[in-house]
Amino acid sequence: VGDSADFDSETDSVCPFCGVGCQISVKVKDGKVKYVEGINGPANEGRLCVKGRFGFDYTHHPHRLTKPMIRRDDAPAKGLNVDPGDLSTHFREASWDEALDFAAGGMSKLAQAHGGKAVAGFGSAKCTNEEAYLFQKMIRQGFGHNNVDHCTRLCHASSVTALIENVGSGAVTATFNEIENADVAIVIGANPVENHPVAATYFKQFTKRGGKLIVMDPRGVGLRRFASHMLQFRPGADVSMLNAIMHVIVEEELYDKQYIETYTENWEAEKEHLKAFSPEEMSGICGIAPDVLRDVARTFAGAKSAMIFWGMGISQHIHGTDNSRCLISLALMTGQIGRPGSGLHPLRGQNNVQGASDAGLVPMFLPDYQSVMDDGIRKSFTDVWGSEDFSAEKGLTVTEIVDDIHAGNTKAMYILGENPAMSDPDVDHAREAFAKLEHLVVQDIFLTETANYADVLLPASTLFEKSGTVSNTNRQVQMVRQAVPPPCDAREDWWIEVELAKRLGLGWTYTDPSEIFAEMTVNMRSFDNITWDRLKTEAVTYPSLSPTDPGQSVVFGDGFPRPDGRAKFTPASVIPPDEVPDAEFPMIMTTGRQLEHWHTGSMTRRAKVLDAVEPEANASLHPKTLRAMGVEPGEMIELTTRRGSITIMARADRAVSEDMVFVPFAYVEAAANILTNPAIDPYGKIPEFKFAAVRVEKAKDT
Ligand code: SF4
Repeated sequence: VGDSADFDSETDSVCPFCGVGCQISVKVKDGKVKYVEGINGPANEGRLCVKGRFGFDYTHHPHRLTKPMIRRDDAPAKGLNVDPGDLSTHFREASWDEALDFAAGGMSKLAQAHGGKAVAGFGSAKCTNEEAYLFQKMIRQGFGHNNVDHCTRLCHASSVTALIENVGSGAVTATFNEIENADVAIVIGANPVENHPVAATYFKQFTKRGGKLIVMDPRGVGLRRFASHMLQFRPGADVSMLNAIMHVIVEEELYDKQYIETYTENWEAEKEHLKAFSPEEMSGICGIAPDVLRDVARTFAGAKSAMIFWGMGISQHIHGTDNSRCLISLALMTGQIGRPGSGLHPLRGQNNVQGASDAGLVPMFLPDYQSVMDDGIRKSFTDVWGSEDFSAEKGLTVTEIVDDIHAGNTKAMYILGENPAMSDPDVDHAREAFAKLEHLVVQDIFLTETANYADVLLPASTLFEKSGTVSNTNRQVQMVRQAVPPPCDAREDWWIEVELAKRLGLGWTYTDPSEIFAEMTVNMRSFDNITWDRLKTEAVTYPSLSPTDPGQSVVFGDGFPRPDGRAKFTPASVIPPDEVPDAEFPMIMTTGRQLEHWHTGSMTRRAKVLDAVEPEANASLHPKTLRAMGVEPGEMIELTTRRGSITIMARADRAVSEDMVFVPFAYVEAAANILTNPAIDPYGKIPEFKFAAVRVEKAKDT
């Protein structure tokens, strides 16, 4: 950091990485971001983690896409084969007019020949609310259907499904800062020290004040040092463990009878269901001793105020929706919802995955989770859009669209700021699909793995180069502001979307993100009392009850947005993982993120400091497992599942159990998703990234 002599301008904005949504001041010198400081936003109070503080320079990386480009007629066959430093072997430069005409023309032609469903779209959780809104509008208005999705399908779709089903809303019921008012908190299937580091600082402070932190995770994640209880349960055994805890609450009558009677339904069914889950019986499945399960039940039920936080360890299973149903039931039966220091909080991953989902970038919901199947709701949107009705059928999700390409139905895609050629499960299957597309439009800041398969590349902007709004995991809507212009011919994403829509004949006339935001507020009650002008000077947490209300940190204090205002208990049964270890694949593989690298690594691996700290693909195993294999840390190992193999450096980590290997998914040279299982949760349609049967061997040439 420095003083005002160190920079020419400073601009307040929001960190481009995780869902915490830390506010930043971007200091610019000679047209480049020189450094970033944390400022006093509601989610961070001046704090930043290593990504926010040191990860900004990807925005000036020499591999930025700076010119529109069209695939050359003589380009080699589509594959992961383009040199990001020299695109000329596969692409030629084009003017914006030529590239936009080509992009829109290719989609129109295929839609006319085969029907609108020949074109599908993946929008982005990294872009602004306005850009997410425009993206879903383009697919629905332009092609007449709902085959539009984004990375929420790979992250918290199952949590959102369970929340909408049981409490009537897909967002958190309390901000993470509410932990200040709690005396007990559960963090399950989440590793906030690495993935939501600034939120983790509030969790650590909570324990310093005497709060009891119950950490539950198959890995000994970083928060274990602060935990009053650390439950390192067997992977995939979440439902058996949680049901056993709830069994104790029922058996010992620790539940909140008055709350249950006033605010819930289906309690008797839940109570009956839980009888079969005694700690003594479930202990053999989840690996946690019965007395620990009983102690956790008494601690949570006995709290004055308690919160539950969860991450993708809960959601990324074929029983991800059931996992979340259990957490919701636990909060409901103890009345730990709707008061200060209580509530449910799925920690959202990307900077704007909450906002993109709210904006309707999902195949079953229009903005604000309004069903596409409801004629009146569709009409309320088409009236505003001045357009024809569109399909009342729920659309296809991320992995279903990939299968639909293989089936020959989806023939063209528009992919904005997402990298499914790295992030999809069984990623070779996804890459083969993208190679089959007759027309692929990719809008991004770098030649991502997905962009390798593009027919046309539209150079977009980073969050430092655009203006708009984003919504964080806390439901806080915040303004991002342009600190530097996009390089060369790159453009803000909303501008590119508008120009494409004009060429699709949609007649869009937006000239500024504020106009898009104003349109969103017409049919999004969550944005009531939130205006562009307000957001210029303050962050607002939705719902905001008046033009001066900063927003509600805790919701559902007096009932739920469900029939009769009642939340619902949905009993969950134990479903084993889709594939279990056997003689051929005897260990368990799980995937996730690291502190320094974010998602598919497209940004953080191009940030000098972050890449210097964590430069190489690695897989973590317990030291005893490595010794048994005769492998030293730093040597190469081969991981094989039913989908494929990767060779990767071994790292010793006592936090991983002896039958498990943890693989970060940010590294293309050893892509974890070559190995992952594409089996999906039947409700949230989320893949089982957190559990695959794997064989681990010393690499042959080491
Ligand atoms: Fe950015 Fe998240 Fe780190 Fe905050 S915690 S600085 S939002 S990456």
